[in-house]
Amino acid sequence: MRSIKFTPLEKISVASSASYSFYAVVLDATIGYRNFDICVCSLKIIDPTCYYTNDEEDNESTVETVNTGSSKKTTVVTNTSFCCVTIFANNAEQLPRIKKVGDIIRIIKAKCTYYKGMKQFNVNLHYSSSVVVFDGDEMTNEELKAFPTGRYKPYHCSRKTFDFTKDEEKLLQGTRDWSNDFFSKNIGFPSDMFTTLDKVKEKKSGEIDVHCQVVAIETQYVGRAKLSLRDQSGVLFKMAVREKDQWDLHVNDVIRIRSAVIDSYRGSKLELHIQPKSNIMKFLKTSKLSHQLLDEVTLDEKILRMMLCDEEKEILDHRRYISKVTDMHKTLPITSLFEIYHGNRMDGNIARAKFYILNVQPYDAREFVQGFCHVCVDTFSLKNLVTHDLQDEETKSNQVYCPTCKNKSELIYMLQFLVKDDSTEHTAQFYKVLLYSFQGKCDRFFGGNKPVNLYKNEKSCEILKKYVKLLTKFNIYIDGVLEKRQESPKSPPYFLLVETELERKYIEAFIR
Ligand SMILES: [Zn+2]
Repeated sequence: MRSIKFTPLEKISVASSASYSFYAVVLDATIGYRNFDICVCSLKIIDPTCYYTNDEEDNESTVETVNTGSSKKTTVVTNTSFCCVTIFANNAEQLPRIKKVGDIIRIIKAKCTYYKGMKQFNVNLHYSSSVVVFDGDEMTNEELKAFPTGRYKPYHCSRKTFDFTKDEEKLLQGTRDWSNDFFSKNIGFPSDMFTTLDKVKEKKSGEIDVHCQVVAIETQYVGRAKLSLRDQSGVLFKMAVREKDQWDLHVNDVIRIRSAVIDSYRGSKLELHIQPKSNIMKFLKTSKLSHQLLDEVTLDEKILRMMLCDEEKEILDHRRYISKVTDMHKTLPITSLFEIYHGNRMDGNIARAKFYILNVQPYDAREFVQGFCHVCVDTFSLKNLVTHDLQDEETKSNQVYCPTCKNKSELIYMLQFLVKDDSTEHTAQFYKVLLYSFQGKCDRFFGGNKPVNLYKNEKSCEILKKYVKLLTKFNIYIDGVLEKRQESPKSPPYFLLVETELERKYIEAFIR
């Protein structure tokens, strides 16, 4: 058997016109699609010498001097987060259909070029190049027992026959071990390689890549299905797929969708669609990204039941935090309410606390949102407010004018919470926390929903009522940032809830 020299990605020079062969790990892939008279498939690959992590030091670039024509030399810098591969073939069957992020690919005879700061490999299957793909997941012990050579069996081969030497077994298994180790510790994708579903709504058109969980599959007519997708942003999206069976999808699968397209408003609903080159990939069993996503997306069934069915009997057996502070305050240490209200332990008047809520005021949910006039510096109820004749319903209910000075006013949440925590558990005292969302402070508290006129918007009012009811249940806790305010040095201080957000995923489930 001929022996092939395999080169690590980092050692492959963009300056050389030689052909290279290598084992690599697939980070991303399109499906093979026809482009005029040729079939094409594009991949992004990594290996132990070329990958992306969140650690800056890992993501250095390589610098090379390259001959460009006659005697000119230029210096090129290539990003080492991944390499790009384009595979060309005369027929689509020769092209790999990559199933998982982390699968192993063997490429024989690729030409290396330089394109937009990346190493770019061109693989021509109609010449002498070939491509073989192996499952990135390790087999279980039982599977190995039943089928000892299974781990060296590819699931895709661009030719009818393929050579595989004993030495390669080691290289293949080493690459697979590395892939599992790498994806169990790293996400592996630079942030520009995926979008969260809440951002899709902002984008409204174009191609997008997302990482999400399949929460439902609705089978439609022949081979078609509609997937309900959700990710950590809590937003629910639908996506139509053709040839459902070849994707092998199940409820609860975590997937990467490459190159989906956003459908323009159909009715008023945005949807995702598959185009010929779109791919749906799963993740390795060991994948950190997939485990993280499952954790964040999975709904706490008990909490959901409490919200959906007003279940009075439902009692939580342990604490659940249903709100999160954003990244900005994630590193802020937790301070006890006792220290906040009685001590002097506030860092620049800001402190983060974990507490539960005993009572919410006002009692009438429609009064949770008030108008705030910046001229009069006063708030007013939206009850009996005369609305001006504006075109659409939404603006009509959310545009308010001060009843005193007639100026355009802001809508704010205005709620008071009576709270306690462990440090104040055995005292008779309650502590007052104000959610006054003027100047945008904590105006995303209710799962990101901005304040709207609740006298005109019943649906929003119903959602807030459900949340408030949940807030006062036993063992439901808030993790939030408080700000100490004082009108004058002699007046008593009060405490504003300035940053935290209830988890949106429950709202989405409720709306669904
Ligand atoms: Zn006013």
